[in-house]
Amino acid sequence: MSQPAVPPDNEFFRTLWAKQGGCCALCGKPMPASRFDVAHATIWKRQRPTFDHIIPRAAGGSDEPDNLQLAHARCNKIKGKSQTGSVGRVRT
Ligand SMILES: [Zn+2]
Repeated sequence: MSQPAVPPDNEFFRTLWAKQGGCCALCGKPMPASRFDVAHATIWKRQRPTFDHIIPRAAGGSDEPDNLQLAHARCNKIKGKSQTGSVGRVRT
């Protein structure tokens, strides 16, 4: 499943973006700020910034700003998979 797109004009998004310097919280590499920063929609789909729950909701994490960070859609997905245990798929 793909992560929901981050609203580009979201104040909270801009705060996190500035805090992280436009870099992914999981791999530390820069993220494209918009679809027009990358050559192809496919790249955008993998690299676009998404909200990642630091503590997964399934583990009791909240939707509060201090439990959220920005990560590449791809990294977010990998993280979600790696946290999949006996409880099934974890969506962050
Ligand atoms: Zn990343």
